[in-house]
Amino acid sequence: PLQIRGVEKTFSQRGRLVAALSTIDLDIAAGEFVCILGPSGCGKSTLLSIIAGLEEASGGTVQADGKVVQGPGTDRILLFQEAALFPWLDVQGNVEFGLRQVGIGARERARIAHQYIELVHLKGFEHSYAHQLSGGMRQRAAIARALAIDPAVLLMDEPFGALDALTRDRLHTELEAIWSTTRKTVVFVTHNVREAVALGDRVLVFSPRPGRIVHEFHIDFPRPRSLENHLLVDKAAEI
Ligand code: ATP
Ligand code: MG
Repeated sequence: PLQIRGVEKTFSQRGRLVAALSTIDLDIAAGEFVCILGPSGCGKSTLLSIIAGLEEASGGTVQADGKVVQGPGTDRILLFQEAALFPWLDVQGNVEFGLRQVGIGARERARIAHQYIELVHLKGFEHSYAHQLSGGMRQRAAIARALAIDPAVLLMDEPFGALDALTRDRLHTELEAIWSTTRKTVVFVTHNVREAVALGDRVLVFSPRPGRIVHEFHIDFPRPRSLENHLLVDKAAEI
């Protein structure tokens, strides 16, 4: 549901203009899981902010289902970035938070919350607070909170960056399972090649700043087991 046409971004830094993104052209179909891979500073977060309508492009357009994205909060595009749970609310309260904002009644809120809490395997932890959960569990609760408001597009900016490798692997498995049931459109930013190949059905490799798409891979199923000889790794290593 996303059409990105000629998107560019220039920032002014200490009086100088710095190009962060150069002409991004990209179509993302409904239900696709697209990973964006690229070095630090190549504009990955900037692109997500532009797609989410939080930041204005210097040129080009983003359309969601044929409508130009203007300003945040429209078009059911959700930027999942700060995964921090609200510390004053338990897991259920967190998952219900967005539903409360849009005026959904208590019974319905609880029903939806339970559904997503189950989906991320946090049943039994409804009344736990963030400080009582592991990092991986907090991340899963945050994913449930994001999914509960039923966004059409989920933009994820290195959501698992701070987690250990084992927890990360487990979350990959879970996210894949969640994705195959909900079929959300996901744009997932990472600088981890393994993560991109493990999750995406399409991987876009960005050049260093100014970021542009330099390679595009479709990941075959079943996913490649040995990544050592995988073309993607070579290409990603070049940049
Ligand atoms: P990382 O992998 O480290 O998160 P990134 O690919 O997400 O990097 P961005 O945060 O999108 O990179 O930044 C891209 C470039 O734009 C960087 O060179 C950064 O310094 C610059 N930049 C980003 N935001 C601003 C801003 N608000 N003002 C000025 N320059 C900015
Ligand atoms: Mg970033």
